[in-house]
Amino acid sequence: MILLNPHQHNRNYPDEPSREIMRKTIAWFEQRGKRKIKEDDHARAWYGDFLEFIKEEKIFATLLTPSQYGADENYRWDTWRNCEFNEILAFYGLAYWYTWQVSILGLGPIWMSQNEILKERAAQLLREGAVFAFGLSEREHGADIYSTEMSLALQPDGTYSANGEKYYIGNANVAPMVSTFGKMAGSDEYVFFVADYRQGEYELIKNVTASQNYVGQYQLKDYPIAEDDILSMGQAAWDSALNTVNVGKYNLGWASIGICTHAFYEAINHAANRRLYDMYVTDFPHVVQMFTDAYARLVAMKLFALRAADYMRAASPEDRRYLLYNPMVKMKVTTQGEEVINLLWDVIAAKGFEKDTYFEMAARDIRALPKLEGTVHVNIALIVKFMPNFFFNHTEYPDLPKQDSPQNDDFLFDQGPTRGLSKILFHDYGKAYNSYNLPNIEIFKEQIEVLKEFLMMATPDEAQRKDIDFLLTLGELFALVVYGQLILENAPIYEIDEALIDQIFDFMVRDFSKFALQLYSKPISTPAQMDYCQRMLRKPNVDEKRYQQVWKEQVYALKDLYEMKP
Ligand SMILES: Cc1cc2nc3c(=O)[nH]c(=O)nc-3n(C[C@H](O)[C@H](O)[C@H](O)COP(=O)(O)OP(=O)(O)OC[C@H]3O[C@@H](n4cnc5c(N)ncnc54)[C@H](O)[C@@H]3O)c2cc1C
Repeated sequence: MILLNPHQHNRNYPDEPSREIMRKTIAWFEQRGKRKIKEDDHARAWYGDFLEFIKEEKIFATLLTPSQYGADENYRWDTWRNCEFNEILAFYGLAYWYTWQVSILGLGPIWMSQNEILKERAAQLLREGAVFAFGLSEREHGADIYSTEMSLALQPDGTYSANGEKYYIGNANVAPMVSTFGKMAGSDEYVFFVADYRQGEYELIKNVTASQNYVGQYQLKDYPIAEDDILSMGQAAWDSALNTVNVGKYNLGWASIGICTHAFYEAINHAANRRLYDMYVTDFPHVVQMFTDAYARLVAMKLFALRAADYMRAASPEDRRYLLYNPMVKMKVTTQGEEVINLLWDVIAAKGFEKDTYFEMAARDIRALPKLEGTVHVNIALIVKFMPNFFFNHTEYPDLPKQDSPQNDDFLFDQGPTRGLSKILFHDYGKAYNSYNLPNIEIFKEQIEVLKEFLMMATPDEAQRKDIDFLLTLGELFALVVYGQLILENAPIYEIDEALIDQIFDFMVRDFSKFALQLYSKPISTPAQMDYCQRMLRKPNVDEKRYQQVWKEQVYALKDLYEMKP
């Protein structure tokens, strides 16, 4: 089974220590039990005991130290195992995931830096159980990091003084190395340096959120910075900010997958055991539809995110396709996560509000993931740059098998310049779509052909290309084509049966129609474009046998398979 089931942990690891990390983490949460996790969530209790466990087992140290700075051969930055660790943490609570996630972000500019002293220090701190922080956002500027105000001024003695404020910074209350982004005073030159929360000139103002996490506001007031505290300057600082987000935002999809998986078990257990009008809730036809749809969407999320990891791990200066797939994990997988929770919540209704359910947290937390580290809009605006080459300018790459080998992902910390996105070439998506002969894939392929015609024959004009509202909807259609492609590339690798694949493309056809209708309805769509949009509206193939087979054999079969210890 492709979904995580903590009671039957069976993911393949080439080495025993990696498997042990997952098993121990699962055991820690199961030992703790659902009641305690929920109590801590409601009390917004700081997760010091979790961090103590991480420290004792050296888990962040093992998973987040690149091999060359590691204490033994198990230390490496390995996206294969980090995927699952993400999933497990979010499966039990997004708060636990968040402290790990912002440590990843905080470590990004450090591992990307040329400053060996700071890298050695980070490696040592990881072994001592420290967590890290990423000080990029500022209160006034949101996504607009060009306007960063944090400033570093050169002093007469050759040292520097930092002044400014950062906002929404996770772990800002405990991180001995807060990677802080700023500008050199009086210039537009960017800089990344580290600040220590224990220094007097570091003022922790408040937790901006009302959650278990500390999402901090901090101020640096004449904070002394030596040359050795500087991570990077100029273009390198800018690139490491964006390249860090490239690495980090991928994890948000995994948090969504972890949340949806746990919520799914709770929902199916509840519905399948609840009797109304002398029948089970899972006997209602609309409930069957909602569960089957939620399951198909969840499996698709996982197939896509796993495949995107293959491209991240195989990336090189010559192969930067991950720069399309990565933001898609962020914008598509996380929004699909919201959809899954919506469907499940419609089934379990009042139960989803109960304070002792995991679901109550899931319903709240799933909303966060599309919004962090660049909103969905920012990420769609990013991916549409790839659209012309994706459709019209293919190139050959060697076949890419599953990337689960135990090696350090060196390239992620040496991604190079962030420019040149529109020059990146992709392999032909048609190959994946032609590898199956299933009714809904055939319909979806026809929808793609119409979209291609739309782009060639009713090409968006200059005004439409500048209208982000129009572009975002077009971007959603494009994203579906990429989504389907990677799902189909991964389906044989994970031996997904054809009934489920066709069921996945049932919702893909419906979603394509939905966005086509939205594009049709845009104020500035032209009559020619509206015609194409109408041609994109299609109904999925009806196949009752397939549908019932997926429901009975794969979805309903999850009933009572996993329940967290109270
Ligand atoms: C719980 C939490 C934890 C966080 N942790 C951290 C952290 O540890 N470190 C850190 O540095 N930051 C952190 N952040 C900040 C987070 O990354 C920002 O919230 C996010 O980047 C978006 O900024 P904003 O919410 O202020 O939106 P704004 O930037 O104010 O955006 C407003 C609107 O404009 C749109 N928009 C902006 N730019 C564009 C564009 N180019 N194209 C299209 N639309 C655009 C947005 O989509 C949005 O709808 C955290 C935030 C939260 C809520």
